[in-house]
Amino acid sequence: MAKRDYYEVLGVERGADDAAIKKAYRQLAKKYHPDVNPGDKDAEEKFKEVNEAYSVLSDPQKRSRYDQFGSEDSPTASGFEGFSGFGGFGGFGGIDDLFNMFTGGGSASQRRNVPMQGDDIRMNINLTFEEAAKGCVKDINLSRIEVCDMCKGTGCKAGSKPQTCNRCKGTGVETVISNTAFGRVQRRVECQACRGRGQTISDPCPKCGGNGKIRTTKRRSVNIPAGVDDGNVVNVHGQGHAGENGGPAGDLQLVINLKPHKLFTRRGADLFIEIPISFTQAALGAEIDVPTLEKPVKQKIPEGTQSGEQFRVRGMGIPYVRSANKGDLYVTVKVEVPKKLTDKQKEILRIFDESTTGREYEQKKSFLNKIKEAFGG
Ligand SMILES: [Zn+2]
Ligand SMILES: [Zn+2]
Repeated sequence: MAKRDYYEVLGVERGADDAAIKKAYRQLAKKYHPDVNPGDKDAEEKFKEVNEAYSVLSDPQKRSRYDQFGSEDSPTASGFEGFSGFGGFGGFGGIDDLFNMFTGGGSASQRRNVPMQGDDIRMNINLTFEEAAKGCVKDINLSRIEVCDMCKGTGCKAGSKPQTCNRCKGTGVETVISNTAFGRVQRRVECQACRGRGQTISDPCPKCGGNGKIRTTKRRSVNIPAGVDDGNVVNVHGQGHAGENGGPAGDLQLVINLKPHKLFTRRGADLFIEIPISFTQAALGAEIDVPTLEKPVKQKIPEGTQSGEQFRVRGMGIPYVRSANKGDLYVTVKVEVPKKLTDKQKEILRIFDESTTGREYEQKKSFLNKIKEAFGG
């Protein structure tokens, strides 16, 4: 199988300098790193390809040989093939390591003891049409990581204190030296003994086991404002997981899942309803009862209303979220042609039909005129 050109793989010019090659490599490695694309075979292959290209183009000797012989018929091609054996990502730890390699490390030490906001919690919440329109209070079972109330997050049993970690001397980081495709790489990683805290706990809190945090599931009420729509996210501030090192908790995000209504459909704040009317109502005009999310309202249907005509009932839609304004209700009438008529009813209709002159039916008249024009009748 023909190999792709290494310059093409990295998306750089043939004459690109080291900085440009490194930059292109970093971008691509970040994009295709298996930590970012777990389980994605395609990305994994690309990641290997990118590493292979970089290992050659970043090495002046290998690069000049590659430039001389090219990729397809290089006498040293098998040498390059051999590289893919460890040109995967065996040499790397997580993606942080990849960047530490270029930036001189630091992310592990920066992480240590720095207050960080907790993760958000996302939850689906099912609402009826009415609940969404009027707003409601919903009870949910919220499972979240909280600061341990027994030790207040210190992880220590009452009366005891944490000790400075012996392994990292309280720095929270240790240096690991490994051999990678790029040579000897020094990495600073989180201390294994204290998991980056710089402190160890000899007498752990019995409730959280020294973690400082516990997972709890509590029943609680959440307020859903009037007007939310399917797919909206209601954010409940500070009700996500507890933060790290005294950082604030994340948010609770409620994703609204709206059950369809039997009568209404909804577009934004506007409601839509289809109401069947009889052809006599349509012809003579009528006043019909229109259901709304509150009590029914009257709507006048003028004489000669056609099937499919739409009427707007102002302000009878859904409220806009956190606003006093409401959308409208659109009523589409559908003229129903009667079935199962008695002989007497049919007779009445025939008499009616004989009484018509043609001017009663605008559309029919104009259609007949069009036929005449089209065929010159
Ligand atoms: Zn505790
Ligand atoms: Zn340590």
